[in-house]
Amino acid sequence: MMIEASGKSRVYGIFGDPVSHSLSPVMQNAAFRSAGLDAVYVPFHVTPENLNSAVEGLRALQIGGVNITLPHKQNIIPLLDQVDADAVLIGAVNTVVRCGADLVGYNTDGLGFIRSLQEDLGFTPRGKSTLLLGAGGACRAAAVALLRSGVDELSIVNRSEERARLLADRISSVFPEQRINVYNFSDSAFLDKLNSADLVANTTSIGLKGEEIPFFPLSKIKASASIYDMVYSPAETPFVAAARARGLAAADGLGMLAGQGEEAFYLWFDIRPEIGLMKNCLQHMRLRQNS
Ligand code: NDP
Repeated sequence: MMIEASGKSRVYGIFGDPVSHSLSPVMQNAAFRSAGLDAVYVPFHVTPENLNSAVEGLRALQIGGVNITLPHKQNIIPLLDQVDADAVLIGAVNTVVRCGADLVGYNTDGLGFIRSLQEDLGFTPRGKSTLLLGAGGACRAAAVALLRSGVDELSIVNRSEERARLLADRISSVFPEQRINVYNFSDSAFLDKLNSADLVANTTSIGLKGEEIPFFPLSKIKASASIYDMVYSPAETPFVAAARARGLAAADGLGMLAGQGEEAFYLWFDIRPEIGLMKNCLQHMRLRQNS
């Protein structure tokens, strides 16, 4: 794909280490072209020791905005001029927007998750009982987004219960009306919650290499529940495959990746990208990887 740039082109991009695997440049450049924007999106390989100078480079080069991926999502926070309240609560920034002279940080992962739940599973969080497996960065974004969307109950189940407890303590004061439960995988009370949950989402990194979630009793999930796997891979993830084999509605994290990109685009340009374009790009790339 040829990207055309003019002397007036605005530059956007992504900071990561590694970054060459990122799917964001293809989907963002497609959305820029479709919207008729004179802008380009480029991958920047930024190592941890260079993060500080890379942020200064953003200022010096008047770059319009960047996405932030591993391992910089937390460490960039003190380098920015302002950070959105939910990004502070989540403790991670995945999108930086230039506002005049200021660099402002946001986290669009949670909004991408909610969009994907609605578009891929027809799932609306309000009033529902939800259960998240994991307690890392992706889980924090999903937990805040689900609570903001009005879930009745949120259960967080993690290998390290301590980490899940820290997450619950961090967010519960902001959402005092909603029930937040914490379990580890060997806790029998977790099975009751599994049985009543309307949504079960895997936010752990298990499945990235095609491995199954070893301790997970899928048979306990009720038949009307929706299953989400934040992991996305060229092939169907084992969690999604097992859920579908049981007849459950299930989706993987591709829609969330597109959704967080759509929300970042909206923050940068104040217009919505073409509906479905980013997801189509990702699906094409996945088909190519599979062929
Ligand atoms: P973190 O490293 O912050 O957290 C990893 C989580 O996985 C922790 O809860 C950890 O448990 C758990 N975990 C890892 N290995 C095991 C194991 N063998 N057994 C049990 N639990 C395990 O990662 P992130 O939260 O940043 O990312 C998690 C996943 O979400 C990744 O696969 C990532 O690609 C995906 N993701 C997808 C996005 C999308 O757009 N679709 C966006 C962001 C992330 P413990 O605390 O006990 O160590």
